[in-house]
Formats: sequence, structure tokens, C-alpha cells
Amino acid sequence: MKHEVSSARYWNIQECTIPVGRVTIITSFCKGGEDCDECIKFCPEKVLELSTIRNERGFFPPVLVDEEQCTVCGRCQLYCSENAIFVEKIGERVVTPDEIAPREENSQ
Ligand code: SF4
Ligand code: SF4
Repeated sequence: MKHEVSSARYWNIQECTIPVGRVTIITSFCKGGEDCDECIKFCPEKVLELSTIRNERGFFPPVLVDEEQCTVCGRCQLYCSENAIFVEKIGERVVTPDEIAPREENSQ
């Protein structure tokens, strides 16, 4: 008799999804630069970087460098004292095997 194990017992990576976010930055509210880089520092996905262009108040707001990686964790919004950054969920995507594979620096 052929021994079979139901595939339902195993985690199906194809069904594992995470949120996709849209990030809105109100540059005129931002006091980024030497005074603040909280949204950049606390973003686990490295979605943001400091701009090299000043806003009208002389600060350097963040810019989006990899918005596709935003998982809507909300840290940027939570840590911004100026209400200058907001995030909303716009969908979901399937996690790729590469994203959950152990990273070299973490595997040592
Ligand atoms: S946390 Fe807010 S004020 Fe600070 S750099 Fe980010 S958007 Fe600007
Ligand atoms: S919601 Fe989270 S992942 Fe998205 S930009 Fe803000 S800190 Fe980064």
C-alpha cells in the first residue's frame, strides 16, 4: 500500500501573504535631518532615506527608496512627532522563499 501524507499538514508558502503599504510624507511638516530621523531609523524594511533637498522650513524630509517593501508595520507613523508621515494598506502579496530564507549574516 502506498503511504501518502496529506499536503494539508504542511505549511504552504504560496498561501503566505503580507500587507503592501502606501507611504505618504507631508514634507512641509517634517523636521528631518539633525533633529530627527526616527521614521528612517525605525523602519525595519529600509523603505526610507533622508532627502538631500531641504523643505521650506530648512529640514530634510525622508524620501521613499523602496516603497514596495513596506509591510504597513506603522513604526514610521508611530515615531513621527510631527504627524508628517502616514501609511495605509493597499493590498497583500505573497512572501517569496528568498525573503524567509536565513540570511547569511544571521546564520553564523
Ligand atoms: S519622523 Fe517625522 S519629522 Fe522625523 S524625519 Fe520622519 S517624517 Fe520627518
Ligand atoms: S510602515 Fe513600517 S515598513 Fe512601512 S515605511 Fe513605515 S516603518 Fe517602514
